[in-house]
Amino acid sequence: MITLKMPEKVTVRDVAMRDGIQNLKHILPTDLKIDLIEGMASAGIRRIEAASFMNPKAVPNTADADEVMLRIKRKPGVRYEALVANLRGAKRAVEAGCDGVQQVISLTDVHNRANVNRSVKQSLEEMKEISALVRGEGIPFCGAISLATGCPYTGRVPEESVYELAEKYASLGVDEIFLCDSMGMGDPARMGRMVAEIRRRWPATDLTVHIHNTRGMGLANALASMQAGAATLDASLGGLGGCPFAPGASGNISTEDLVHMLWLMEVETGVDLDALHALTEKLADALDTPLFSAVHRAGKSFEKSPVPARLLAGEDERTSQDVDGLAERV
Ligand code: ZN
Repeated sequence: MITLKMPEKVTVRDVAMRDGIQNLKHILPTDLKIDLIEGMASAGIRRIEAASFMNPKAVPNTADADEVMLRIKRKPGVRYEALVANLRGAKRAVEAGCDGVQQVISLTDVHNRANVNRSVKQSLEEMKEISALVRGEGIPFCGAISLATGCPYTGRVPEESVYELAEKYASLGVDEIFLCDSMGMGDPARMGRMVAEIRRRWPATDLTVHIHNTRGMGLANALASMQAGAATLDASLGGLGGCPFAPGASGNISTEDLVHMLWLMEVETGVDLDALHALTEKLADALDTPLFSAVHRAGKSFEKSPVPARLLAGEDERTSQDVDGLAERV
């Protein structure tokens, strides 16, 4: 048997109510968001990115962020977090009682301007004030490195530039670094290498890996990241999500697919897969967009399907013993 080097426990942080919905044309009702957030907490998710505090004109689907944060019934031990792009958003997030605030900066100026309407330098300047405000309130402050593998406009991003931005974050006192393969351009070798390097250079700073499955490498990248020492991963209910500035970008890795893989590998997540499945059903019913979760489509591994009636009725030449063994063989 091959034994992989893995963390014993992995924290799955769900971002469906932020990254997942931010580009949907369909505006999700506030009540449904609250239902899903509370449902995820009940299912055992311990960190939930519940909202983003952005300009409602730019991101209409999170215009109700303040109301969502205010109305959710909070489960003890669960962190309800939010994404911000500027100081104004950070003030709203603090006011709304978020348990974690994350500021995102892209590694290329062109994408950072498209995403948050600022140069990288301007965003870093603002980060000083945001970090002071958020940490001053005793709330963990996280810095997200977006485009950690590649940019839709400029192509491959050098690994060293990831570490340069991480160093700037560390000097501003971030509590946690988010390594984001926002465009799904990462491969397992690079993701594993970057995780190992960040763990080596900033061992006292927490790390979350944020992966999109745009090119089908999502779970492979997640596995490589965990083998390199990442113990917190972002994922999105139903695999919802995608960047508005990245043509063809699909969603984050699906929360169910990640939890399912870890369940099979006997890595503890504390998450109830069946409860997640029920939430994905609820989400699928409410949306007119396809969900990307493979487990949602196919069901869990080893779930047995009913044997076709014609076989049970003996219309087939096989013996009843064959029929008994059928579900195991196919
Ligand atoms: Zn993302």
